Amino acid sequence: MPDSAGGGERPRVLVLGGGFAGIGAVHNLKKADVDVVLVDRHDYHTFQPLLYQLATGLLETTAVGHSLRDLVKDQDNATIHKAPITGIDLEAREVRFEGLAPITYDFLVLALGAQVNFFGTEGAAEHAFPMYTLRDAVKLKDHVLERWEASDKDSALVDDGALTVVVVGGGPTGVETAGALAELYRSNFVTDYPSLPQEKARVVLVEAGDEIFAMFKPNLREYAKDALEQRTVEVMTGARVQSVSPTRVTLASGDVIPAHTLVWGAGLQGNALVQSLGLDLERGNRIGVGPDLTVKGHPEVYAIGDVAAITDAKTEQLLPQLGSVALQSGHHAGESIARRVDGKKAKPFKYRDKGTMATIGRGAAVVQMLGGKTMKGAKAQVAWGTVHLALLPTNEDRAKAVVEWAGAAFSHQRTGRITVTSDSD
Ligand SMILES: Cc1cc2nc3c(=O)[nH]c(=O)nc-3n(C[C@H](O)[C@H](O)[C@H](O)COP(=O)(O)OP(=O)(O)OC[C@H]3O[C@@H](n4cnc5c(N)ncnc54)[C@H](O)[C@@H]3O)c2cc1C
Repeated sequence: MPDSAGGGERPRVLVLGGGFAGIGAVHNLKKADVDVVLVDRHDYHTFQPLLYQLATGLLETTAVGHSLRDLVKDQDNATIHKAPITGIDLEAREVRFEGLAPITYDFLVLALGAQVNFFGTEGAAEHAFPMYTLRDAVKLKDHVLERWEASDKDSALVDDGALTVVVVGGGPTGVETAGALAELYRSNFVTDYPSLPQEKARVVLVEAGDEIFAMFKPNLREYAKDALEQRTVEVMTGARVQSVSPTRVTLASGDVIPAHTLVWGAGLQGNALVQSLGLDLERGNRIGVGPDLTVKGHPEVYAIGDVAAITDAKTEQLLPQLGSVALQSGHHAGESIARRVDGKKAKPFKYRDKGTMATIGRGAAVVQMLGGKTMKGAKAQVAWGTVHLALLPTNEDRAKAVVEWAGAAFSHQRTGRITVTSDSD
């Protein structure tokens, strides 16, 4: 074991990123004889699978963002700092930050997640609404509410597409967002804004491939498409968005959709910081790791979660960028470091697949298990809820989510549909 980076008795473990992966690593270091330092640019952990529920008023901000300090309050060996990372020097074993002195480490855990990939689509970086951060979800909610309020005052805006939303991407993020927006429109806005024509408030899902939900079996794809259409979502497959302006979406076919809102749920790439590490990166800017999740040539550096390209030992396929992969890889990294500090050998990572799943709307979800078994409808939604409740960081958060989901299921109300951030006072 090297001398501690801090010059003290114990090795220092520096964890970069407080998402599922980073928090998983920190928690499994609780009993280790180390000093753990977690740095994130936010003072909260974001529960990304519920962002679409925040964006559509079903959940409050604090049900989706959780104080990082709360998450480690019972862990004496852990410290949190809120600071953007500006540079990582793997040779010097030092990380630099904005507004925080550089920190050296004995072990480094890279848990920086991914970021949106607009694939060079013209106007997307300026005008699209991505769905990746807490701020993204709140911005989208406020923008949609603002467009309905503006149309309520000036109905001419409706024909200009003020109420129409185009959602790009037929994967889980796009499908969940389109389904939830359609329910918000048809269940809530229909009574909130009785004078506005609902038929001109379109929710259009645009997918470049031949089908939505390409990762699911054909019966689940068909079910999802029907469930979306029942909720009045217009599903356009084989269509690619070419450019975006504040009020128009132009498709590669030349068709133009008047729409004041475009939600981007189409692509991710590894965090941009990893490009500066001098490592060979895998597809999508992800850091390749060995079976123990360490980075080649750097046994003291672990890469976990969305930022890592982790190969499943069982299937030899790359694991998807999912919450359960991030959490389990985080737990594994934490446990491995604890074992090594204790003089024991680390074990290879084994992923336990809980199935691939997504929701489409109230009472509509799909689940596909590793063995090929599938589930759909309300039963699948219960399975989705169970798996995602387990991912929530604390029991208090689980209780809060259950109360809010149950309330919304019975009342069909979305109490979060108020605008706060853009108010003038
Ligand atoms: C809309 C959406 C819906 C999803 N739905 C599901 C789902 O239903 N089920 C599921 O299993 N998975 C889902 N996922 C995927 C899942 O959320 C991710 O796989 C998971 O969050 C990855 O965890 P992570 O810890 O690797 O990264 P993240 O959760 O992204 O955490 C990375 C952390 O690093 C911090 N960070 C990044 N860059 C810097 C920097 N320069 N300086 C300081 N801090 C930085 C960020 O602030 C963040 O807290 C969804 C993802 C999205 C976007």
